[in-house]
Amino acid sequence: MNPILNADLHCHSIVSDGTLTPEALAERAHGNGVELWSLTDHDEIGGQHRAAAAAKACGMRYLTGTEISVTFIDQTVHIVGLGFDPDDQALADGLRQTRGGRGQRAMEMSDGLAKVGIKGAYEGALKFVGNPELISRTHFARFLVESGVCRETNEVFRKYLTEGKPGFVPHRWASLKDAVTWITQAGGMAVIAHPARYKFTANQEFALFTEFKAHGGQGVEVVTGSHTVAEYSIYADTAREFGLAASRGSDFHSPDESHTELGTLPFLPANLTPIWDVLASRIQ
Ligand code: AMP
Ligand code: MN
Ligand code: MN
Ligand code: MN
Repeated sequence: MNPILNADLHCHSIVSDGTLTPEALAERAHGNGVELWSLTDHDEIGGQHRAAAAAKACGMRYLTGTEISVTFIDQTVHIVGLGFDPDDQALADGLRQTRGGRGQRAMEMSDGLAKVGIKGAYEGALKFVGNPELISRTHFARFLVESGVCRETNEVFRKYLTEGKPGFVPHRWASLKDAVTWITQAGGMAVIAHPARYKFTANQEFALFTEFKAHGGQGVEVVTGSHTVAEYSIYADTAREFGLAASRGSDFHSPDESHTELGTLPFLPANLTPIWDVLASRIQ
């Protein structure tokens, strides 16, 4: 295959913090011209068999996917896994362990919000949760929009859910090494998600890429809904510098929120190895 492929290898369903079912996402992706798709729910692979079957039903190629939350130098980094065996036990166990702290964290977030006068946020957020093991900041954001505290989810994150704000609770996620290892030992490839979103210094970012490679990581998202056009070029250079394959994905969550639509991003820049070339044997 080649870089000119409408691959969308990053999006979320109701199994994590998206609002559509795996089936509705598959149809939407296919309708938008996606040729190769992956559903990458946060810390979850519970939607993988449904997504693969739905992709097959509309004649779209599929790679298994997930997006693992990792703590690296006190920041949350997301590692996308692609093309793994969806029935791998060690991967399932690792993800279950990663999801484990979310319930307690959510109650603490709710306590923080109560202190600034927002009552019942835990129960309110729960109404938006599709998977009881995966309550996320996104569900709180939807509740705060529904209850009129903010106009849209971006505003909720800015005012309430990011570091230093009343609903923010620091959390320790998986280690970089564990996340990369779970994915690769299950036959998949690990990809650094939306690198421009992190607030690392140049040295810290270098450490992230260097350690990721050392643990067996093989790809980086270059074209993502989280990057500007200038950032496509920056991370295309980073991919070449570190010898990483390049990925492309919208990070679509919901038709009602200001996220990039499935299958609508520019193609990968030239002179990169597309991750789908390296994963050719894992495509269903
Ligand atoms: P969590 O895993 O509970 O920390 O939630 C992280 C999720 O929150 C991300 O995957 C995004 O879907 C969402 N998110 C993070 N920052 C923002 C933002 N500024 N605006 C909207 N959604 C965001
Ligand atoms: Mn999300
Ligand atoms: Mn992410
Ligand atoms: Mn995502």
